[in-house]
Amino acid sequence: MIRSPEEIRKMRRAGRVVAEIIEQTRAAIKPGVTTLELDAVAREVLERRGARSNFLNYHGFPAVICTSPNDMIVHGIPGPYRLKEGDIVSVDCGAIVEGYHGDAAYTAPVGEVGELAVRLMAVTERSLYAGIDQMVAGNRLHEIGRAVQAVAEAAGFSVVRKYVGHAIGTAMHEEPQVPNYWPGTPGPKLKVGNVFAIEPMVNAGTYETVELDDGWSVVTADGALSAHFEHTVAVTEEGPEVLTLP
Ligand code: MG
Ligand code: MG
Repeated sequence: MIRSPEEIRKMRRAGRVVAEIIEQTRAAIKPGVTTLELDAVAREVLERRGARSNFLNYHGFPAVICTSPNDMIVHGIPGPYRLKEGDIVSVDCGAIVEGYHGDAAYTAPVGEVGELAVRLMAVTERSLYAGIDQMVAGNRLHEIGRAVQAVAEAAGFSVVRKYVGHAIGTAMHEEPQVPNYWPGTPGPKLKVGNVFAIEPMVNAGTYETVELDDGWSVVTADGALSAHFEHTVAVTEEGPEVLTLP
């Protein structure tokens, strides 16, 4: 799917709202705060900006962000869980403006966290930018995942296989999928106007995942920590443009 300059302008506006949700929720993360309170912060931004949520009611999802602490990888439901000193928490957020979607995620420390957590977050964010650097017209789609995987595995971590990035536009999840690893083939050529959500999920242990009984929350199979960083990125004549950058 090729997005016109006018469509990318709209996606930039959605991206500005997502960036504000990132900033506001990140500022609210501290020991004692519940994940439901973070959802309320995100709802307030969406309301104030006149944007709609692409998470709320998605296959029945009950909140506008996902909050996934510690060994939870993605899709955690905001609720009574109270963040505590030493936790890390992944926040996945999105917005719709004029029918166009933005999608981003980050993992943040709660107070002081351990050395492994600090390194995992830094490596995961670095792997995201390594993937973004590959979003150049003429390059092959799967070079994105190859670059992500190289950074994560060089640090001794693993890349989740079961959940992947995606094209994004008038729906949050469009084809093609964007794996965060080398799937064995180069994939299609990237073109100016492609817009993808690149979203490495990097685990301190195994990449195997388990879905919890709530039907949403996904955790690491071995209980090791996980981090998740995501941006919505357009392929432009000048190279990659991150639309959701705070
Ligand atoms: Mg997301
Ligand atoms: Mg996404």
